[in-house]
Amino acid sequence: MFQYKVIHNILPTKVSLFKAKITNNDICPQCLTDRHSLDHMLLHCSLTLSFWSLFRNWWVSKTKENILLSNSIILYGTFDNRKHKYSLNYALVAKYSIYSKCLHDEKLCFDSFLSFLMEKVNIQREIAIKNNKLNQFYETYRNLL
Ligand SMILES: [Zn+2]
Repeated sequence: MFQYKVIHNILPTKVSLFKAKITNNDICPQCLTDRHSLDHMLLHCSLTLSFWSLFRNWWVSKTKENILLSNSIILYGTFDNRKHKYSLNYALVAKYSIYSKCLHDEKLCFDSFLSFLMEKVNIQREIAIKNNKLNQFYETYRNLL
């Protein structure tokens, strides 16, 4: 549902909430300078740019592979290479983490993204244990563990 709202540009931001008179301003809660549109939140905010830079470095450290994070891939998660399918899932979790911080007026923090991601991975581990597919789990998440 989250990605559906991103694709259709209907994810609530300060801009849309301000237009609906739900908030009293449309300023980005991260940088406190620009308007908080979807593009600004996920692509152009100075703190988001730093976050994606940390994400790329983290990805390289885990996989020894560079990752292309174009605006299109960040927004729409285009699958053009099966090799990076899991990285795109991680980017989706990262994107949701960015949104969640903005929603709660909290500052972006890469470490909190990693904690959030590990919560999701641990849920996947529990599901794998229950379905007796722990080997597949370790194959899928070997770079993270
Ligand atoms: Zn901003």
